[in-house]
Amino acid sequence: MASRPFDVTIIGGGIVGLATAMEMAQRHPRLGLLVLEKEKEIALHQTGHNSGVIHSGIYYRPGSIKAETCVTGRKALIEFCDAEGIPYDLCGKVIVATSEEELPRLEELCRRGSANGVQGLEMIGPERLKEIEPHAYGIKALHAPSTGIIDFPRVAHAYAGRIRRRGGEIRTSQEVKKIMSADGGLVLETSSAEFRSKYLINCAGLFSDRVAKMVSGRSEGEPESDLRIIPFRGEYYMIVPERRSLVRGLIYPVADPRFPFLGVHFTRTIHGEVEAGPNAVLALAREGYQKTDFTGKYWRTGFGEMHRSFSKPAFVKALQRLLPEIKAEDLVPGGAGVRAQAVSGTGALLDDFVIKESANAIHVLNAPSPGATSSIAIGRAIVEMATKSFSLNS
Ligand SMILES: Cc1cc2nc3c(=O)[nH]c(=O)nc-3n(C[C@H](O)[C@H](O)[C@H](O)COP(=O)(O)OP(=O)(O)OC[C@H]3O[C@@H](n4cnc5c(N)ncnc54)[C@H](O)[C@@H]3O)c2cc1C
Repeated sequence: MASRPFDVTIIGGGIVGLATAMEMAQRHPRLGLLVLEKEKEIALHQTGHNSGVIHSGIYYRPGSIKAETCVTGRKALIEFCDAEGIPYDLCGKVIVATSEEELPRLEELCRRGSANGVQGLEMIGPERLKEIEPHAYGIKALHAPSTGIIDFPRVAHAYAGRIRRRGGEIRTSQEVKKIMSADGGLVLETSSAEFRSKYLINCAGLFSDRVAKMVSGRSEGEPESDLRIIPFRGEYYMIVPERRSLVRGLIYPVADPRFPFLGVHFTRTIHGEVEAGPNAVLALAREGYQKTDFTGKYWRTGFGEMHRSFSKPAFVKALQRLLPEIKAEDLVPGGAGVRAQAVSGTGALLDDFVIKESANAIHVLNAPSPGATSSIAIGRAIVEMATKSFSLNS
């Protein structure tokens, strides 16, 4: 038995789907709005397994969607948290160069950050670095005082609260398995129900490519057909409580710009723990949170990271470049996260966020980091797109 028809259905109860629904409910309060989430709870996947960093917008190519939505999304996120009483800490971050050869890249990051409008960025020497992070080693560093930490699942639950207060419905344990066209709209089939909706917004994270392919009536060669999600698994260690004082805020290396990874870093969490990692590896199981959940060939850039995943000494060595006092016994295994990284038909890793439209659907096909920081800005951009493309007027 199909439900009452909805106007807009969002697939995916992660932070991007929920931010989009929240913005939709605010801008179009009279629309019938539905969010479908396959798990028993919202925010269990990327949103519930990330580093909890409110990024300031340093890394991204000026003019990219990432750069724009990170800076505006950060501001919107902080306003939202102030309004909702959600704690965050703008503890600041240092990106640390440990060798001369990293200096040009560090300077490039400083230029990028400034071009992106990041406030308060400053190149600092070893003395100032010692004041900010007394145990870090570096010959030079970039200090970003506007970077912060937060509990993103808590933010996602607060978005859900607003959606419900504005009349939107969120249905969990509803995995969309099939999408059919009918009467000018869509029928979404889950394991236990059918939902009718005029329009669809696909925010399915690690499964967004598969959901895009479910939309029937898509003619060959439409944009979403050539993108695939490659899941990268990241493992974390935690610093034992008695050694947490080695890290005050966030200590990062100078990232290699060829890869969309930030390198092995230290992150203080809003709950007072200190995470070290991640060890990014290719995870062929899309929601593989256990080491044994992946098999097969590694992505070519993942090889070094893969090695670290199985060799604690190699991992500790990478950490010691930034924090010489850290020892293997200071680290205990922590959690793992799997990031959805889109690759193009030719196999290139796509750096920027990717949002595509088809007849009566919008698909978010690449929303890796800083997707949680950017979520409100991404939501606004999608609602803007939907308003035009679906001719929404209520
Ligand atoms: C290890 C790691 C660290 C990160 N660190 C940061 C950070 O510090 N700061 C930051 O800003 N960003 C960070 N990110 C990125 C950030 O977490 C993501 O950009 C963000 O969570 C993406 O949200 P999402 O809603 O697109 O995806 P998800 O949170 O993965 O949500 C997608 C949802 O869709 C559901 N779904 C999938 N298929 C279906 C279906 N067929 N039917 C119904 N539901 C379905 C899933 O169950 C899931 O709940 C990190 C990511 C990872 C993995």
